[in-house]
Amino acid sequence: MAKATKAEANYRHSASKTRVNALSGSKSKHCSLCTMFVPPTPASAGAGDCTAVKKGEDGISPQGLCDYFERKGESKRGERWYGGNNG
Ligand code: SF4
Repeated sequence: MAKATKAEANYRHSASKTRVNALSGSKSKHCSLCTMFVPPTPASAGAGDCTAVKKGEDGISPQGLCDYFERKGESKRGERWYGGNNG
């Protein structure tokens, strides 16, 4: 299956700390918790990839979110570092 574009998937992410909660993932819903997220290598690279959505020029942010979100297991890992509080 061809990957969707970010627009088709309604992917959103903002690097701006003041707007991040409104535009990207929340504490309990963001790309790094999604079954389709492919982590960046090295982790310090910042953005990774996704098996369902085209990463485009900016990649897929661990803190991003799209309408295809599917949470991995029940693991709470990954929530600890995330600063958002609207989840
Ligand atoms: S929420 Fe999941 S499917 Fe959507 S862009 Fe992030 S990793 Fe990909």
